[in-house]
Amino acid sequence: MTWTGGGTPGGARVMIALGGNAMTASDGSATPDAQAAAIERAMAPVADLVAAGARVALTHGNGPQVGNLLIKNRLAAGVVPPVPLDWCGAQTQATVGVMIMNALERALAARGASRPVATIVTRTLVDAADPGFADPAKPVGRYFPERQARSAMERGEVWRPFGERGWRRVVASPEPLEILDAGAAAALLDAGHIVVAAGGGGAPVVRAGGTLRGVEAVVDKDLAAELLARRLGADVLVIATDVEHAMTGYGTPDERPLHRTTAAELARLAAAGHFAGGSMGPKVEAVRRFVAAGGRRAAIASLARLGDAARGAAGTVVEA
Ligand code: ADP
Ligand code: MG
Repeated sequence: MTWTGGGTPGGARVMIALGGNAMTASDGSATPDAQAAAIERAMAPVADLVAAGARVALTHGNGPQVGNLLIKNRLAAGVVPPVPLDWCGAQTQATVGVMIMNALERALAARGASRPVATIVTRTLVDAADPGFADPAKPVGRYFPERQARSAMERGEVWRPFGERGWRRVVASPEPLEILDAGAAAALLDAGHIVVAAGGGGAPVVRAGGTLRGVEAVVDKDLAAELLARRLGADVLVIATDVEHAMTGYGTPDERPLHRTTAAELARLAAAGHFAGGSMGPKVEAVRRFVAAGGRRAAIASLARLGDAARGAAGTVVEA
């Protein structure tokens, strides 16, 4: 793969957001071996992009990993005090970050493109008055039978029924306002590192009495990636997921892939309800925001087509 003639010259700064399929097996298995194998596979297209000359920053989701920690919390509650959700976010940034560092350094060495990779355990500022706190809507963790959901609700958690599959805990997913550790990520990127930051959207914090305090919430990783991309001066934002394109009419007989589009057209399509909340919705909003704020190009694409998407040649490509 080469950057020449593709619209993005070498040295371009590319922010990549990796979805769940980069960190778990295709059947959703999140055993340590399955996570390591998925990350190993995901780092091949990332390393190709770096070898082609791009300066890369990465972020990643953490849904299955946090789900596992919540189960540990619950099962061990009588022995070890459960830890809050922002701690789970911090822990998963570290573990996924280390796995990415190992796998990416290996993939780069295999391409003769050795470069240091660093992870910044990142805090994301949110507003304590965000409406998400009063009306939590983001499901976290696994499905449970109603009986277990009710006992967790007695401990103050919010749970909701999701049809036949059972009940899930729901938490606030507040709007990210600021990636507080973006400065550290920028310094490392400037110094030639590949940077992993704002994993899982970052550990959410609010300002309280002149200091920062963690909150029981999760930040959407695609919206956090967009904020970080801007703070890093990225030329291109690529959201790598498990589908080739964002679709209009998804799941209907009129389903159509969106190839090239603009921020304005995406806003119209989103308002018309084409993108499901919690999955494609935030990805579309992230790429729309990035280009509307002056970013050169953003794309939603499959992980395998990451490099082509960064050049504007695959996936749903948004340009002004
Ligand atoms: P990730 O884990 O990569 O962040 P998600 O699972 O949150 O990804 O979102 C990707 C999923 O969004 C796709 O697998 C697809 O099932 C779903 N989806 C919802 N609406 C759309 C749409 N309009 N076009 C394409 N995929 C959609
Ligand atoms: Mg997913």
